[in-house]
Amino acid sequence: SIRVAEARAGRGVPVYLIDREDLYDRPNLYGDNRDDYYDNLERFAFFSHAALRVAEALPFLPDIVHCHDWQTGLVPALLKGPFKGNPVFEGTASVFTIHNIGYQGVFPAEKLLMTGLSRSDYFHPEGLEFWGKISLLKAGIVYSDAITTVSPRYAQEIQTPEYGMGMAGLLKNRGAFIHGILNGVDYRAWNPTRDPEIPANYSATKIKGKRLCKTMLIKEMGLDPALKDRPLLGIISRLDTQKGFDLLLRVLNEVLALDAGLVILGSGNEKIQKALRKTSKGHPGRMCLRIGFDEPLAHRIMAGTDIFLIPSRYEPCGLTQMYALKYGAVPLVRATGGLDDTVIPFDPQTGEGNGFKFGPYEPKAFLDTLRRAIDLFEDSKTWKRIIKNGMKADFSWDRSAQRYMELYRSVVQR
Ligand code: ADP
Repeated sequence: SIRVAEARAGRGVPVYLIDREDLYDRPNLYGDNRDDYYDNLERFAFFSHAALRVAEALPFLPDIVHCHDWQTGLVPALLKGPFKGNPVFEGTASVFTIHNIGYQGVFPAEKLLMTGLSRSDYFHPEGLEFWGKISLLKAGIVYSDAITTVSPRYAQEIQTPEYGMGMAGLLKNRGAFIHGILNGVDYRAWNPTRDPEIPANYSATKIKGKRLCKTMLIKEMGLDPALKDRPLLGIISRLDTQKGFDLLLRVLNEVLALDAGLVILGSGNEKIQKALRKTSKGHPGRMCLRIGFDEPLAHRIMAGTDIFLIPSRYEPCGLTQMYALKYGAVPLVRATGGLDDTVIPFDPQTGEGNGFKFGPYEPKAFLDTLRRAIDLFEDSKTWKRIIKNGMKADFSWDRSAQRYMELYRSVVQR
């Protein structure tokens, strides 16, 4: 039997929660800082089956099943196989969203039995076989009626060997079904004009409060008070190789030598923690590292910093650059994925642009761009202009929701 709880989201939308303590009551979602949970296949195969069973039992006919990432990749395959012919799902189309191609849900072939899919029908290169193993991400890609990813740029990138992580060929074959729809952000939670977590509220036209936020952040982090007139850099991130920490570590000493300060908030990979801790010990008063997942602090960092660094190797969409824009923490990013779609390089000639971008994943490109940003920071009139351009940005969900509706209408089968 399956235990299901019912809740209501905004506007009364019903939400059903699959309740299984032994599978889901864990300290983390998918694993600890070192490894994935050993039973992830069991956990998410059960979830996928249970979701369809629950839909079957409810008094409605689903038009669309929208699945996200490998955890639900089995669902499109189940709809095309074991659940086919079931009148409830006769007109149901599946949409599969890839949030990050780096997480592929790969498991030993022997575990195929757990999925409820037959070996003869599914374990082959056109199915969910992936280099002799099974990949639930691949199942979602192969068997869904439409694929989306979280930015237009990333939709292109994952079809290339550099970014496709072994799935590029497959994705290229399904290219006509792939849509890039940028994520939105929630400005009810992320808005400096009425954010209760920050020391002073401010807006593009009344920016004064941001200075106080900066002074308070410097104090809270125990940084050198003289930094209040120098560029303060910020990072809020999962500590993961994806996010460009190896590149950051290679330039950190030079960055801090530019008479700048740096605040990092992150959680994740222990090796990265260690390396960052070591560097920060060498720069007391200049660099502060906070390990942990701390949302209120994330708000104070957005409000208190001048430049927000995101040197990602790849970035499907990225949310922090959108928050940073709203908070006047000018984003300096690597031109990849959603970062490339949302950050427009500032052009002193035209006065247009909201941030800074570099292309090659190399120390020189990163440092040159940071130097340029700091030069412009010294020119307070220009800097205000950049901040204003950024704070005007609107990446709310409305536009993205519209795009999803259009997509749903195009695939719905009744
Ligand atoms: P990803 O999903 O790859 O981690 P995103 O930029 O899309 O990257 O989203 C990350 C989200 O998590 C953002 O909302 C960011 O503010 C938040 N976040 C990341 N690390 C931390 C942390 N250590 N403390 C608080 N919030 C964090």
